[in-house]
Amino acid sequence: MARIVQKFGGTSVADIDRIIRVSHKVKAELDRGHQVAVVVSAMSGATNKLIDLCSSISPLFDSREYDTVVATGEQVTAGLTAMALQNLGINARSWLGWQIPIHTDDVHAKARIMSIDTDELEHRLAAGEVPVISGFQGISDRGRITTLGRGAGDLSAVAMAAALKADRCDIYTDVDGVYTTDPRIVSKARKLTKITYEEMLELASQGAKVLQTRSVELAMNHRVRIQVLSSFSDKVGSDLPGTLVVDEGEIVEQEVVTGIAYSRDEAKVTLLQVADSPGVAAAIFGPLTDAAINVDMIVQNVAPDGKSTDMTFTVSKADLNRAVSVLEGARDQLSYNRIIADSNVVKLSVIGVGMRSHAGVAQRMFKALAEKGINIQVISTSEIKVSVLIAEDYTELALRALHTVYGLDAP
Ligand code: ADP
Ligand code: ASP
Ligand code: MG
Repeated sequence: MARIVQKFGGTSVADIDRIIRVSHKVKAELDRGHQVAVVVSAMSGATNKLIDLCSSISPLFDSREYDTVVATGEQVTAGLTAMALQNLGINARSWLGWQIPIHTDDVHAKARIMSIDTDELEHRLAAGEVPVISGFQGISDRGRITTLGRGAGDLSAVAMAAALKADRCDIYTDVDGVYTTDPRIVSKARKLTKITYEEMLELASQGAKVLQTRSVELAMNHRVRIQVLSSFSDKVGSDLPGTLVVDEGEIVEQEVVTGIAYSRDEAKVTLLQVADSPGVAAAIFGPLTDAAINVDMIVQNVAPDGKSTDMTFTVSKADLNRAVSVLEGARDQLSYNRIIADSNVVKLSVIGVGMRSHAGVAQRMFKALAEKGINIQVISTSEIKVSVLIAEDYTELALRALHTVYGLDAP
């Protein structure tokens, strides 16, 4: 007997027919003698609609009330899924974050899980009950509902799997595994049988939304065995050929490049003619940090005249206007000539642990993009990743070209 956490994403619980399908998947594992805890997301589109409702009251809504509103999406699906399971004769009960409780800090809208009380769930599981847990939410020590950030149903599932010491965390979604790149954009994308935690973490953090970034980080730290599976197949668990996220040692044939991610959530800011003197970077990025604006890629040019230079960096699209107004506000201290803001950009990242031992990965990327006439605006690298910023219009063309160049195309 194994203990399994099954997580069903938004499209997997999008309507009643799909929720009934989900109930059969839970039953299939129970019939094999396994213990199952279920984690559900809101119906697809539901969270966006709830966020729109908040924005229509005020664009500067209170994040505590935002959490109260957006957490309801997962309440609906937890209740409906428990009902569907009961219809199959299964002893099931829904659990909201505060009922377990899943304790979080009080950073509303992007709270972090601090601890999970599992005593009651352990009793229920031992008695053969199936808990159906609302993903995406918890409770702060001030007793208020919190949410964990967009896409964090995955995080709830991995955290539950770690707390319940589950043997597996099966993430059911609308694709049948992790692919070399988004299969909705590159039709030749290939499904990976296995991927390392490290590569999955990079892919997720660079934009591949198939798994949420923090969920991968938590799984890596707690050695949770994650499997990404299709919720549209009739098979379940180990009968389904999905993608396993594993330690590096479990992968025998390591490719140099495992996958390519893209993020449209980038915007570029260029400050023209800032002084080229000590302390300038600190003066620019200090006010942005104070305004809680994360900066991603950064380049600083050499100063041709030894006096002034151009500084380019990226922020998330949602932060662009705020970043510009913060820098305009600090104009006296920074003494730049002009700000150029550009949100028509995309970041492409090629990822693979094999890069540690192979040279020339970046060069192949630059050459492939040059052959398509695509200009690279910013470059950044890490041990297992090369990222470039290009014009957003070229996203698909560039992704396909890179996919072919690194030999990732499906036969
Ligand atoms: P869920 O609602 O189940 O959490 P998501 O929409 O969050 O599902 O994630 C699944 C989506 O991730 C897929 O539909 C796919 O378009 C996208 N995706 C992006 N990159 C990849 C990749 N490398 N492999 C698989 N899917 C990817
Ligand atoms: N419903 C939440 C969202 O849309 C969490 C999730 O689906 O994982 O962001
Ligand atoms: Mg998701």
